[in-house]
Amino acid sequence: MQLMENPEVKGVEYQQGTLQGYEVREYVLEKWNRQCAYCGAKDIPLQIEHIHPRANGGTNRISNLTLACDKCNKAKGIKDIKDFLKKNPEVLKRIQAQAKAPLKDAAAVNASRWALFERLKATGLPVEVGSGGLTKFNRTSRELPKTHWLDAANVGTSTPDTLLIKDVRPLVIKATGHGNRQMCLPDRYGFPRTSAKGAKKVKGFQTGDMVKALVTKGKKGGTYVGRVAVRARGSFNITTIQGTIQGIGYHYCHMIHHCDGYSYTKGDAAFPPVA
Ligand SMILES: [Zn+2]
Repeated sequence: MQLMENPEVKGVEYQQGTLQGYEVREYVLEKWNRQCAYCGAKDIPLQIEHIHPRANGGTNRISNLTLACDKCNKAKGIKDIKDFLKKNPEVLKRIQAQAKAPLKDAAAVNASRWALFERLKATGLPVEVGSGGLTKFNRTSRELPKTHWLDAANVGTSTPDTLLIKDVRPLVIKATGHGNRQMCLPDRYGFPRTSAKGAKKVKGFQTGDMVKALVTKGKKGGTYVGRVAVRARGSFNITTIQGTIQGIGYHYCHMIHHCDGYSYTKGDAAFPPVA
């Protein structure tokens, strides 16, 4: 916030307004819930709008900025907000109150992220911080598509000018948990519907393990790689990216990775761009 109001504290790129523009825009979008402050329109292009018009001496300060759709922006023109909303005192009151309010929860978020930063710094590892606006600026100026993993590569000032991402696919790690302690499934009245769960491990396998099954005979012949769901009788289900195959005998399965509460899959490459 301090930075946006006093850009002289940062480097040339910031002072010349390119980066500052990104920061301000992101902040204003967040503050005004990405909708037109006047009519509430959403999911359409929104413009940064001066509550007190520039032409009448309004400033560029964050507290004087809001969001407007094209229609409202044109309708308001250089009118003072009090004249423009003469017939809508409720809306006027709401906008005036929100303009003065700092970004909701911003203070709490700020405090906790600096605490996190201090702890990371205490590890002695090189730590760098960035902002949402800087990430977007880095991504846009490098003409990269918006994805979570590319945004991670665009955080901070150390982002290289050229990111070599051709054929790079991210490893997607998802928390899946270690199953639950429920012994059987109940019906809607709360009575047991299934028999009591047996041992967690069957023939050395556990639900959630990554396995490779080479089925050599029968109509399920083929190679399957995926998460296994064990059954006491040793006939397992394997969930692959193509779907779930049921009834695969344990003797066909080879352990790839023991269940550790996470799933690991390859994500999409950024190029060619994902449609
Ligand atoms: Zn509008």
